[in-house]
Parts: sequence; C-alpha cells; structure tokens
Amino acid sequence: MKSAAIRTAFLEFFASQGHQIVPSSPLVPRNDPTLLFTNAGMVQFKDTFLGLEQRPYARAVSTQRCMRAGGKHNDLENVGYTARHHTFFEMLGNFSFGDYFKREAIRFAWRFLTETLGLPAEKLWVTVYEKDDEAAAIWLDEMKVDATRFSRCGDKDNFWSMGDTGPCGPCSEIFYDHGAEIPGGPPGSPDADGDRYIEIWNLVFMQYDRDSSGKLTPLPKPSVDTGMGLERLAAVLQGVHNNYDTDIFQVLIAAAAELAATPYGASAESDTSLRVLADHIRACSFLITDGVMPSNEGRGYVLRRIIRRAVRHGRKLGVEDAFFYRLVAPLVASMGDAYPELRQAQHEVERQLHREEDKFRETLQRGLDLLDEAIAKLPAGAPIPGEVIFRLSDTYGFPVDLTADIARERGLEMDMAGFDAALAEQRQRSRAAWSGSGAVKAEKIYHDLAMHLPATEFLGYGGCDGAGGVL
Ligand code: ATP
Ligand code: MG
Ligand code: MG
Ligand code: MG
Repeated sequence: MKSAAIRTAFLEFFASQGHQIVPSSPLVPRNDPTLLFTNAGMVQFKDTFLGLEQRPYARAVSTQRCMRAGGKHNDLENVGYTARHHTFFEMLGNFSFGDYFKREAIRFAWRFLTETLGLPAEKLWVTVYEKDDEAAAIWLDEMKVDATRFSRCGDKDNFWSMGDTGPCGPCSEIFYDHGAEIPGGPPGSPDADGDRYIEIWNLVFMQYDRDSSGKLTPLPKPSVDTGMGLERLAAVLQGVHNNYDTDIFQVLIAAAAELAATPYGASAESDTSLRVLADHIRACSFLITDGVMPSNEGRGYVLRRIIRRAVRHGRKLGVEDAFFYRLVAPLVASMGDAYPELRQAQHEVERQLHREEDKFRETLQRGLDLLDEAIAKLPAGAPIPGEVIFRLSDTYGFPVDLTADIARERGLEMDMAGFDAALAEQRQRSRAAWSGSGAVKAEKIYHDLAMHLPATEFLGYGGCDGAGGVL
C-alpha cells in the first residue's frame, strides 16, 4: 500500500466514524510562543483541549506535518541512525474534544489496524501507563490482547506532553514487531530502543493542563489525542523494516544518489548520508514553505543548521557543486498533491536553499580542512578541543551540532567546556572593544535591524552555540 493510499484510508476510516477532516496546520504554530515547531497533530487543537476555543465538531481527524528538531521533542541526532526517526514527518491523528474517551479510542485504533489494514494481532504489542488500570482492562478484557504482548510503563514513555506546559495525560502505545532477525527488545525492556519493536501509534488520554510550576489541573472535559507516524505505518504495510525503504523516501534517496553518483547500498556510511539528505530536504522545504527563513536565531537557525548538515553530507558524498536545492523538484513531485502549498512555494524554496548553500560552500571546505588538521594532531582518545569547535563556529559557520555530527562519525568526543570558555572569552573581548565608544547604541540598532531582516547574514555574536536562540 503506497503512502498516499494509507493517508486516504486513515482519513476515510475516521470520517466514516463521524470525524471532521481538518487540514494540516503549518509547521510554525500560530500564537504559541511556548513551542518552536508543530511537533504533533494536537498542536492546532491545543486551545480546544484547554476549553479556550469552541469548534463546531467534537471529533476530528488530520494528517499533520510535524517537525522534531528542537524544543522538547528533538530527533535531529537520531536521523540517519535509527530506522524510525525523522526531523520532518507526517502524523496521522484522530481527536475527541470531550466526546469519546479511552474505550472508543482504543477500539477505533484496534479496528483500523487489524480490520481495515489487516495487520495480524500477534505482531502488535501494547503498553499503558503504569497506573492506568482502566486502559489495561479495556485492552486485556475487551480487546482480548494477549497478556504476553502487553506491558505497563512509567512517566517517561507513557505520560505524554506537548511541551513543558499545556495539555497532557497518560497514554497507551501500539508497537509493531518487525521480526526476530532485527535487534531490539520489547517495549519497556532495557533494550527497547532497538529497531525490532517499533512504536507506531500513541493514544493520549488528555486529562490535564500542566502549568509552568508543573502543577496538573484537570481539563474541562477528558479528551483524546492520537498520533501515528505515516512513515512508520508505511514501513509496516510495505513490508520493509526501515522507514527510509518506503516509497516516501526511496524517490528522494534515488534522486540524491543520482546527484551524488553514489548508489544506495554502496556503503553503510554513504547510505547514512543519503538518508540524511532525504530527511533534510523534506524538513527544509516544508520549513521554507511555512515561512521560516535561514537566520541566526530561533526557528531560522534550526533551518540553517539543517541545511548546513545536508550540505556537509553532500560534500562527504563527493558533491562539489550546489546540489541540495535540486532535490526540491522530486520532493514536489511526490508530495505536491497532498500539500499544494509546497508546490506553490517550489521556486522560493529552491532559491532560498541555493543561496544558503552557496554561502556555506565557501567556508565549508576550509572548515573541514581545519578540523582534519586539528584531529590529526590529537593524542589518541582526546576530545576535539573547544578552541577548534569555537573557531569552526565563529569563522567557518559550522553550527556546533554539525561539528558534533562529524565527531560522532569519527568516534570522537568534544570538549564543550573548552568551547564555552572560548565563547565567553570572545564575548568578553567584544564587550571590552565596544564599551566607552558609544557604540553600544549602534550595536543595538544593528541587532534590531538584523532581527527584522531575517535572511541577513549576522555572525556578530550569539546564535552560534548550538542552542542559540532556540526556544
Ligand atoms: P519514539 O519513542 O519512537 O521516539 P515518541 O514516543 O517520541 O516516538 P510520540 O510523541 O508518541 O512519539 O508521537 C506519536 C507518533 O509519532 C509515534 O508513535 C510515531 O509513530 C510518530 N513519531 C514520533 N516521532 C517521530 C519521528 N521523529 N519521526 C517519525 N515519526 C515519529
Ligand atoms: Mg521520540
Ligand atoms: Mg516513544
Ligand atoms: Mg510515544
């Protein structure tokens, strides 16, 4: 079953059960300063859950574009390394605003998976929150899920929250067993993080609003929020064990492989780079489509970091020329029907990516050379010196996470304390240089200007410390 058909099947199933089909909201949440990016389907319904907004329907279904590359949910470091994580992905979700609760949510999910999609029950594992006897009884007594494929988990996995504040509640998750030949233990076990048992669907029983002191206040009405990654479900239905082997990514990987003249499957290392490119072109294109521009702070800085990581992986594959923007066309060809706004933005996306890529290509090679030289001089087992990390970020535009990506590939640690010291020293120096000259005012004007011209290169201060400006 192709991904487009899965998307439609999900929407149709829930529409036939009285759910209103609601379009995806943008990746930049409207009026929500607590959140960097839309990281789940429930984000656009947050105020409805909180009782602050009334909608003309009590049940909804959507396929929501999501980003998890900053803030509470951040999977950037996992991309290319696990079978299941992306920075950008689509979340299929059904929602009840004070209408149905646990029993119906569980029934709908089970019916959709086992009846509509025909997945065998023996391949599905279920978890509930450790104190949630009600959900446990529904799964075991009513749905007759086998107790050997059922477990209870604690706060970390089975109490879901959108961010540090906002709607939250206990959840119940459904996993798919990809087979004994793949390493990894069942949910709740110490080696659950492998790729054998993959979490596909999370049913959240929204019951509380968490405030900034951590206090939980019951919501006006218990509600339901579910999320299932389209890419993970596609892997299951297409009989592959890695999301990157689904139709969603294969077209992009093929396009990247052609541009890099490196076939997929040539080596584990080049495959990782191709997967990263396929992931990052989706993230960057949708971010620009939704109005984010590369910059040195906040959302724009996340975008810039992702672009630079992509360009570095291209270089690693031996690509010298600008190439990343050329992946936009195949992306539009595969996702433009589901997301017409992407098709509309195609030229702007290409223009922005090309520009940003050109800018970085100038310093990328020199930075890589500097890093190679520094690494060659290191005693065995020594971390990359903080001074080097700092120079790469300050002079060559290497965000810290980009250097970390390279360090990881080479099995090296990073001296982050040394980096912080170098950064503090530079700030001290620039403060000393400015003070007494009346230039502080000018600095502020320049700063304000830069903030209003998001695409402007502004490498003066801040924003280069990896977490810079990220909410
Ligand atoms: P995991 O434990 O695998 O990191 P999660 O528990 O963080 O997933 P949830 O916050 O419960 O994920 O999100 C609901 C669903 O969204 C998940 O069950 C999964 O199908 C999908 N999902 C979550 N994160 C990602 C991601 N980074 N890439 C692709 N799909 C994802
Ligand atoms: Mg996660
Ligand atoms: Mg999980
Ligand atoms: Mg989960």
